Amino acid sequence: MTIAFIGLGNMGGGMAANQARAGRKVMAFDLSADALARAMAHGCDTAASAAEAVKAADVVITMLPAGPHVRAVYAHDIIPNAKPGALLIDCSTIDVDSARSVAELAVKAGFKAADAPVSGGTAAADAGTLAFMVGAEADDFAAVEAALGPMARVVIHAGASGAGQAAKICNNMLLGISMLGTCEAFALAEKLGLGADRFFEIASKSSGQCWSVTSYCPVEGVGPATPADRNYDGGFASAMMLKDLKLAQEAAARAGAATPLGAQAEALYALFAGQGYAQRDFSAVLQMLRGQIYTLKKD
Ligand code: NAD
Repeated sequence: MTIAFIGLGNMGGGMAANQARAGRKVMAFDLSADALARAMAHGCDTAASAAEAVKAADVVITMLPAGPHVRAVYAHDIIPNAKPGALLIDCSTIDVDSARSVAELAVKAGFKAADAPVSGGTAAADAGTLAFMVGAEADDFAAVEAALGPMARVVIHAGASGAGQAAKICNNMLLGISMLGTCEAFALAEKLGLGADRFFEIASKSSGQCWSVTSYCPVEGVGPATPADRNYDGGFASAMMLKDLKLAQEAAARAGAATPLGAQAEALYALFAGQGYAQRDFSAVLQMLRGQIYTLKKD
C-alpha cells in the first residue's frame, strides 16, 4: 500500500513514521524543511510538493492545522492529482462544514473520502496508539480502518461524512474543560499545602480521575512524562485547543445547544494565548491559574 502523507508536524511526523515502520511506502510532504528531514530519517520518501506526493498513492492522509489548510490542499493539490479511486483520509481537527465539503468534492471527483480526527496527543502519535473517530460511508469503513491500522489503538465508525469531526469537537470541548478543572485543582492543592505528587496519586485513584490528571498531568515532575516536564514545549498548542473550543462554540450556536463551560474554557484559552503563549502546550494554562505566568517562556 502506498501512502501519501501531507502535514508532518507534532502529530503527523510520528504518524507518518509509523506507516513507514509498518513497511508501507510513504511519500511525505510538508512546507517545513525540518519536518521533511525528520520524516526522511524515519523511513519516509519525501516529495517536492503535495501534488507530487499524491500522484501514485492508494491512500492520501492529511494532518494539517485547520479547515482552510485542508480545503486548499484538497482543492489545489489532492483532487486534481491523486490516482483515480484513491482513498482520501483527513485526520486534522476541522469544522464539520469543511469536512463535509472536501468529502463531497472528493466523492464527486471519483475518490473515496473519510474524516478521521484523532485523540491521544503526540505521545500516542509517536507510539501508534491513537484513537480515530471516523466519518465515512459504511462500505468504506473497512478500507479506512486498514489504512489507519499502524497508527491506531482503536478506530471507531462515528457515522457518515462529518461525524468524526462532530465527535472530535465534543471530545475536545470536554478535554479543554477537564484540563482547566485539573489545573485549578492542582493550583488549589498547592495553596492548601498539599504536595502535587500526593494529590496526583490520590486524584488518579479517586473520582476526580481523568485523562488530564493521569496521562497528561500539567505539573512538572509529577506523573508520566508530559510537556510540563519540558517547559510546555511541543504537545498540543494552546492555539490548537482554542481553535477546537471555537469550533465547538460555533457548532453549539448553530445547533442551539447550551455549552456554558465550553464558552468559559474558550474565554480562558483566548486570554492565555493572547498573552503570548499560543504555542505553549495547553496544560501550561496551569501557570496562569497559579499566578506564575512569568515563569513561562513566551512563543
Ligand atoms: P502542527 O502545527 O505541529 O503541524 C501541522 C503541519 O502542517 C506543520 O508541520 C505545517 O508546516 C504543515 N502544513 C501547513 N500547511 C501545509 C500545506 N499547505 N502543505 C503541507 N504541509 C502544511 O500541528 P499538530 O499539532 O501536528 O496538529 C495537526 C492537527 O491535528 C490539527 O488539526 C490539530 O488540531 C490536530 N490534533 C493535534 C493534537 C496534538 O496533541 N498536537 C492532538 C489531536 C489532534
